[in-house]
Amino acid sequence: MEEAGDVVLRLGAEGQILFASQRTSELFGAESALTGTPLEKLLAEDDRPALHTAIAAVLAGERNRQFESRFKVANKEIRFELRLSSYISQQASIELLVVGRDMTQQQATEERLRHMATHDALTELPNRLLLSDRIRMVIANARRSGQSFSIATIGLDGFKKVNDGLGHPVGDAVLRIAAARLRKTLRDSDTLARVGGDEFVAILPGTATEAQIKLVTGRLIATLQSPFEVDSHTIYVGASVGVAVYPQHAEEEGRLLALADAAMSLAKETGKARCVVYSQTQSGPPEHDISLEAAMFQAVREGEFLLFYQPIVDARTREIQGFETLMRWKHPTLGMVPPARFIPIAETNGLINLLGAWALKAACVQLKQFEEVAKRPLYISVNISPRQFRNDKFLDVLDDAIAFSGLLGEQLVLEITEGTLMVDPVHAETILSKMTQRKARIAIDDFGTGYSSLAYLKRFPISVLKIDRAFIRDLPGSQKDAAICNAVLDLAKHLDLSVVAEGVETEEQLSYMEQRGCQYIQGYLTGKPMAANIAMAALRESMHLKIVHPDLRQVGK
Ligand code: C2E
Ligand code: MG
Ligand code: MG
Repeated sequence: MEEAGDVVLRLGAEGQILFASQRTSELFGAESALTGTPLEKLLAEDDRPALHTAIAAVLAGERNRQFESRFKVANKEIRFELRLSSYISQQASIELLVVGRDMTQQQATEERLRHMATHDALTELPNRLLLSDRIRMVIANARRSGQSFSIATIGLDGFKKVNDGLGHPVGDAVLRIAAARLRKTLRDSDTLARVGGDEFVAILPGTATEAQIKLVTGRLIATLQSPFEVDSHTIYVGASVGVAVYPQHAEEEGRLLALADAAMSLAKETGKARCVVYSQTQSGPPEHDISLEAAMFQAVREGEFLLFYQPIVDARTREIQGFETLMRWKHPTLGMVPPARFIPIAETNGLINLLGAWALKAACVQLKQFEEVAKRPLYISVNISPRQFRNDKFLDVLDDAIAFSGLLGEQLVLEITEGTLMVDPVHAETILSKMTQRKARIAIDDFGTGYSSLAYLKRFPISVLKIDRAFIRDLPGSQKDAAICNAVLDLAKHLDLSVVAEGVETEEQLSYMEQRGCQYIQGYLTGKPMAANIAMAALRESMHLKIVHPDLRQVGK
């Protein structure tokens, strides 16, 4: 007993201490002072009834009783696990034996584990798990009190550069400092979580009006703007913030986060170091259609996706020059699902990488077949989504498609949007130059609808501008659209870019564009998106027509 590292006590049947081990005396004072004291005096008051119950139980014949109890030591309480049993002493009287194990260590470990499961190890901030819990709590409160609150997604600008350029330890230090600064800016009742490499989310109860949001997010952005001093480096990062408000924008946790995220992407795309509040006019991520999403995975396995081809024709001769591939999903019950419904979902869950790789390869192979029919070179234009563009594997996918089909790189046009370029222009520059090394041409799709910084036309190796059909639709009547189209054509001429007019539906639109020097036309007038076999028929037909009608401009009339 003397050697035991635990608390060991002998008690009389009434619970008074007869003997205390060394360790016990160390904790509670000399043995002489303890002897005769009732054990319960050492326990926290609330825990005394449990002791009495245990004593009664072992006296009534139970072999032993185990229970937790807090000992009062100086000003602290230490949690012990006590085991109580009874025995007959040499004096033939009933005595009790108490063995107590200090739980402090174990408790600390348990707490640490709980903390680790719900916090980010680097910054000690709540992680996604705890965040999601907190958001649900705040929603429940807000629902009851009828109040609103905001969710802000905070993304560090230019963090990747720090990590790549100065190494991960420096990157980690920056994140830790950023976390601390953000935390200090917020109120104690606000939650700040780290949810990704360089992404944080704040829950801001009671912040809902534009003025309030501006104030809080302005502080968040400002605090990250001052330089970070790490290992004698002076580092500048910044932050872009996206905000969604409960219940105006969404009432459900996942949706709120998705909208705040979409708003943050827009903040990044439109200049960084700013805050964008989600607005209904912004095309946020699609309502999460879970049934559609599940069906998509199935559809990939079942081969329900297919490609349509829309002719891109020479504006003057109307001869088919190439095709744009447009994806379709032939759903067994829903029929043809348009890409606007499934591409955004595929973009969110990553399926786009798989679908896009397939589309690219299939389109290249198909073009070879088209050329056999047409007996002349054609080109194929393929849409590349932002996520595909950012994917490290994309260049391999591109190489594979070119090698497998035997196409020349210059027969391939990759369509990307302005937004894709603006997210991370430095990265875009490297990828684009690698694409053009393979001779593929780059087209800017939906030109004029993104957040164009015209500077990128100079910076990036772009060959084609596709004027969005929004500017074509009201031609030639609309003066404003006419002005825009003319300006784009003029710009393209001086920068040596080709122009495709999208969505040409009438003869008037076509001749307007043609007269002003637009070389290429794509639209329902000259050909709707069609299945490959129909496209081949059209190619055959056009060869035939070429012989019969020397002036191709008469054909469509
Ligand atoms: P986009 O690349 O701008 O494609 C042009 C869209 O305009 C197509 O819609 C096409 O059917 C439509 N269109 C063409 N001519 C006319 C016209 O004269 N009038 C009208 N009203 N519409 C016309 P679609 O096929 O529904 O595709 C929508 C968008 O989905 C595409 O816009 C593109 O951004 C995306 N998409 C389609 N296929 C793929 C794909 O394989 N990969 C990726 N990443 N995105 C794709
Ligand atoms: Mg396109
Ligand atoms: Mg387009």
